[in-house]
Amino acid sequence: MKILVAVKRVIDYNVQIRVKEDGSGVITDNVKMSTNPPDDNAIEEAVKIKEAGKASEVIAVTVGEEKAQETVRKALAVGADRGILVKVDGVIEPLAVSKILQKIVDKEKPDLVFMGKQAIDDDCNQTGQMLAALLNWPQATFASKIEVKEKSLEVTREIDEGLETIEVKMPSIVTCDLRLNEPRYASLPNIMKAKKKPIEQINATDLGVDTKPRIEQIKVEEPPKRKAGIKVASVEELVQKLKNEAKVI
Ligand code: AMP
Repeated sequence: MKILVAVKRVIDYNVQIRVKEDGSGVITDNVKMSTNPPDDNAIEEAVKIKEAGKASEVIAVTVGEEKAQETVRKALAVGADRGILVKVDGVIEPLAVSKILQKIVDKEKPDLVFMGKQAIDDDCNQTGQMLAALLNWPQATFASKIEVKEKSLEVTREIDEGLETIEVKMPSIVTCDLRLNEPRYASLPNIMKAKKKPIEQINATDLGVDTKPRIEQIKVEEPPKRKAGIKVASVEELVQKLKNEAKVI
C-alpha cells in the first residue's frame, strides 16, 4: 500500500503575523516558515502505518516555491521515503493545488492520500474535499483516529456534536486533525539521512494545470486591537460593574 501525503509550507504558528503597509497581504520576508501543523500529523500517521507493516511507501508532496523543498525534507526526516516538489511561483489557491494533486495521484496511484484538515495561512479547509471530488474518491475529514482494515479504513472524525466513526473504502482521501497523534521530532541522524532521499521536481506548467488565481484579494488588515481591561478591588465591585455598567446580570 502506498500513501501520498500533502504537506504545505506556511508561516510558523508561533510567528506574530504582520500585515504589509499597503494592505496587499502579510509580510513573509525573513519570517520563520514551517510545515502546516496538521500536515505533520498526516505524515506521522502515514509513517506509523508503514512501521506497523501496513504500508510499503510514504511519499510527501508539496506545491509551492523552490523553498517549499524544506517542508518535504522535514517529512523525509521523520520517515517519508521520497518526496515530490511541484514548483509554482506566487499565490496558489486550493482548487489549483487539488488539480495538481489529482495529476500526482494519476501518476503515483496511491491507495491513500493523507492531508491536513486545514492550512493555517488561508484557513480554507477545501483542498482535500476538492481533491476527493476530482478523483471521485470517498473522503474522511477531520480524522482523530484511523484504523486500517483489509480494503477500507475506519475513521473517527471530530465533529461539533462529538466523535463520529465512519468506514471508507480505499482508495480514499483522509484529512487529519491535530488530535490524531503526537508528531515525532526529527533526530539529527535522520535529518542527515533525509538529505540522501530523492525529491522529484516537477513544474506545474508541465502538468497542464491552470494555476491562475480565481479569487481577487481586495484587502488584508489586522484585527482591531482589544481595549485594555480594568482591575477591580473586590468581588462586590465586580458584581456591581456587571450589574450596573455591563448590565449582563
Ligand atoms: P486548505 O484547503 O488550504 O485549508 O488546505 C488543506 C490541506 O491541503 C493542507 O493541510 C495540506 O495537506 C493540503 N495543501 C493545501 N495547499 C497545499 C500545497 N500548496 N502543497 C501541499 N499541500 C497542500
